[in-house]
Amino acid sequence: MVSAGVSPSSPDRAPVTAPGAPDDPGATDGAGAQGAPGAADGAGAAGGPGVPPAAGAQPKPVILTVDDDPGVSRAVARDLRRKYGERHRIVRAESGDVALDALRQMKLRGEQVAVLLADYRMPGMNGIEFLEQAMDIYPGARRALLTAYADTGAAIDAINVVDLDYYLLKPWDPPEEKLYPVVDSLLEAWLASDHRPVPELKVVGHRWSARSSEVREFLARNQVPYRWYPADEAEGKRLLDAASADGLALPVIITPDGEALVEPSDTELAARVGLPTTPSAEFYDLVVIGGGPAGLGAAVYGASEGLRTVLVERTATGGQAGQSSRIENYLGFPDGVSGAQLTDRARRQATKFGAELLTTRDVVGLEAHGPARTVRFSDGTAISAHAVILATGVAYRQLAAPGLSELTGLGVFYGSALTEATGCADHDVYIVGGANSAGQAAVYLARAARSVTILVRGPSLRKSMSHYLIEQIERIPAITVRTCTEVAEAHGDGHLERLTLRDSNTRSTEVVDAQWLFVFIGAAPLTGWLDGVVHRDERGFVLAGPDLTAEGKRLADWPLDRPPYHLETSVPGVFAAGDVRAESAKRVASAVGEGAMAVMLVHRYLERT
Ligand SMILES: Cc1cc2nc3c(=O)[nH]c(=O)nc-3n(C[C@H](O)[C@H](O)[C@H](O)COP(=O)(O)OP(=O)(O)OC[C@H]3O[C@@H](n4cnc5c(N)ncnc54)[C@H](O)[C@@H]3O)c2cc1C
Repeated sequence: MVSAGVSPSSPDRAPVTAPGAPDDPGATDGAGAQGAPGAADGAGAAGGPGVPPAAGAQPKPVILTVDDDPGVSRAVARDLRRKYGERHRIVRAESGDVALDALRQMKLRGEQVAVLLADYRMPGMNGIEFLEQAMDIYPGARRALLTAYADTGAAIDAINVVDLDYYLLKPWDPPEEKLYPVVDSLLEAWLASDHRPVPELKVVGHRWSARSSEVREFLARNQVPYRWYPADEAEGKRLLDAASADGLALPVIITPDGEALVEPSDTELAARVGLPTTPSAEFYDLVVIGGGPAGLGAAVYGASEGLRTVLVERTATGGQAGQSSRIENYLGFPDGVSGAQLTDRARRQATKFGAELLTTRDVVGLEAHGPARTVRFSDGTAISAHAVILATGVAYRQLAAPGLSELTGLGVFYGSALTEATGCADHDVYIVGGANSAGQAAVYLARAARSVTILVRGPSLRKSMSHYLIEQIERIPAITVRTCTEVAEAHGDGHLERLTLRDSNTRSTEVVDAQWLFVFIGAAPLTGWLDGVVHRDERGFVLAGPDLTAEGKRLADWPLDRPPYHLETSVPGVFAAGDVRAESAKRVASAVGEGAMAVMLVHRYLERT
């Protein structure tokens, strides 16, 4: 945008008088005094560009000025601050390099930069070169060049190079006439454009990268707000440049205060975004292992009934339910509730009662030492308690067909449909599975996808899916159900591109274009680590209560006179709740109920030991 007055289109403007002297008592930034020559500082602001705005405070949009003459630099900053200091952070720098560094830091922190004012004649990097590079970082910031009369030709050329909005002839006194109208106009133009602040976590990654996908899923399931930037799009590239990241190691996560984390582990990420990962004590009344509905139920009841309770979760609280787009059959939610919402409420409730919730802690061992039950983590550390509730649920089974394991996370997903849904817009999506979880995902994904095809091995959905979901599916034209069909092979280079489908009756095959495949084919308990500790059935589900003593047999290794309580395992004081328990109902309500009931049995156990 170029407008009249001091715009480049009127280069014959008369030069004006000298700026306020550098040592003018009115010079307000004070930074020149403390900063090394060439340093950038936030004139009159809470901090310099390296200092993030105060937590919780809405950062003011920045006006940045760069001039190699310290006196002129201070004078510009002083004049700017006088009129704009209340609503803007005035940052000044004395070289292009320093100003670019400052801009990169602001970019990482998600600050807004409204206006850039650069002197033309600077040693090393001139103002046009600076503005050109600054455009790569803040393309939306409005740009003006400060020139001497003799340099107006260069300034006019800059209109094409850096899409200059204005040039200002030095000196600019009185600012009310010469400087402020230009800056007002620049700010007006900036305000009219899209300059939304992005204070959340930023994730820059490759769209088809398994780890980028996992990180987004991890953040979403832990209800950590973030914004996603594909690394091959302009803003993603700008963020990587600002973080001095080469883009070879992705994802890069940029925290709200501007720290860049390259390929962090879940535990590093959890710690950085404020999710507790370390227990505060060595001994508790109750350790709950698993943060799905059963574990959260146990944590709420345990903590609310006065037990010192810690819940340990390996990825994100919510478990399978946390991945559900809409749970329609949970008591008290007649319009359904998303798994994320239910999890958020449960987590807040558990925390309110004083339960400690740890994430990204994988439990790999359980030992009984006299009355203490010790739970060991994968990093070798351990905590102990009077009682333990196993609420580790189940994990999705993997589909065995050539090509699938290589493409997992690259178009092939197990269960987690929610964070990928936006990527499916206008694409053809395939879902494998005939149970409710597959049906819910189909309904959810059909909102964005061009088509959704449910592949079922059997002849119909009726045996495996609830009636209400089948009816919903029938009413959505974008969803097709292909019965008697299985995935024979997946193909793709870096991302799923095609599927070979096989008719399970005729064995004939067909190759279809497919970029997305979501698999929901039942689940298995991951209880290998309990081998030799508690009794399990042949599929790995934990036996408890009456199921331990089926056919009236007494447990040979049961040490007490009384029989095990209803949800108690073969180790006294260790209980099982929810999907991990053999013969459990595999529903949210029953998992929550068992969590609560297990706590009641823990009390009974504690009273009698
Ligand atoms: C997509 C989907 C939709 C569903 N929809 C419905 C529905 O509409 N209605 C309904 O009633 N049911 C539904 N279900 C089933 C319901 O979600 C489950 O029955 C319920 O979540 C079981 O709860 P849980 O706590 O026993 O186990 P899970 O939900 O499986 O949670 C177990 C947790 O333990 C953690 N864990 C496992 N091992 C360890 C370890 N060694 N260390 C630390 N942590 C560990 C896991 O990471 C997980 O978070 C759905 C399931 C899915 C997948």
